[in-house]
Amino acid sequence: MNRLISRGALPLCAAVCLLAACASSTKSSVMGSHRSQLLLVSAQSVNQSSLQYYAQQNADARKKGELITSGPEYSRVYTIMQRMVPQVGVFRDDAMKWKWELVLINEDTVNAHVMADGKITFYTGLIRKLNLTDDEIAAVMGHEISHALREHTREKMSQQQAAGLLLAVGGAVAGAGEGTMQVAGLAKSIALDLPFSRGMEAEADEFGLELSARAGYNPQAAITLWDKMGKLGGGGGPGFLSTHPAPGDRKATLTAMQPQVWPLYQAALQNRR
Ligand SMILES: [Zn+2]
Repeated sequence: MNRLISRGALPLCAAVCLLAACASSTKSSVMGSHRSQLLLVSAQSVNQSSLQYYAQQNADARKKGELITSGPEYSRVYTIMQRMVPQVGVFRDDAMKWKWELVLINEDTVNAHVMADGKITFYTGLIRKLNLTDDEIAAVMGHEISHALREHTREKMSQQQAAGLLLAVGGAVAGAGEGTMQVAGLAKSIALDLPFSRGMEAEADEFGLELSARAGYNPQAAITLWDKMGKLGGGGGPGFLSTHPAPGDRKATLTAMQPQVWPLYQAALQNRR
């Protein structure tokens, strides 16, 4: 699917960019990217379909008795979210007003995601199988929040639309009733199942590292996190590893970024004292 996009859509994307719809979803920061993005699909459509999927995911998990919204494990991840969210304004002001929420789903899956409007999902398999430290949970959260801040799902949908693979996002979202399931399914398949491009992943690594450092979490945890992911190999089942580049590939890049974010981490620790 990704190959289809990159071969077929790029010239068209370039042409569309000339006509207008390109912008950057975030402002500059220490690690900030100024890459222009193809954003043909409206933010409203993406938000609406993402919210529908999030509601459906949670209803399904609740039915199976797997939805966790309280207790010590939840509180631990929630505390990390509370420290991360105030930092999102570094990248975009409007994200400070998103309705940030966290759910844990009690499944073995090694995965986590953040959907539009700040809806964060962590699977307990990720935390337990990798025995994540708070710093490592912050590294995953920072990475996933950054996909949302950079509107990578909206960009993926726009690329699909430009390639003629997605013709009716706006129309489908506008419909009600029976269309709801389809739209929620569409959001899931594009947001969660279709891998982000390598460039998007690199951005999420950069932004995520800055976010966690600014929140006072050790940015070196991004490296130990990927070491743990690498050791897990295929044992994690479908999830994070199936939609992300090989852990080994990002270790060198994350190591090279450390000097830029280390002062932010030190400053955050000073402020906390
Ligand atoms: Zn990612």
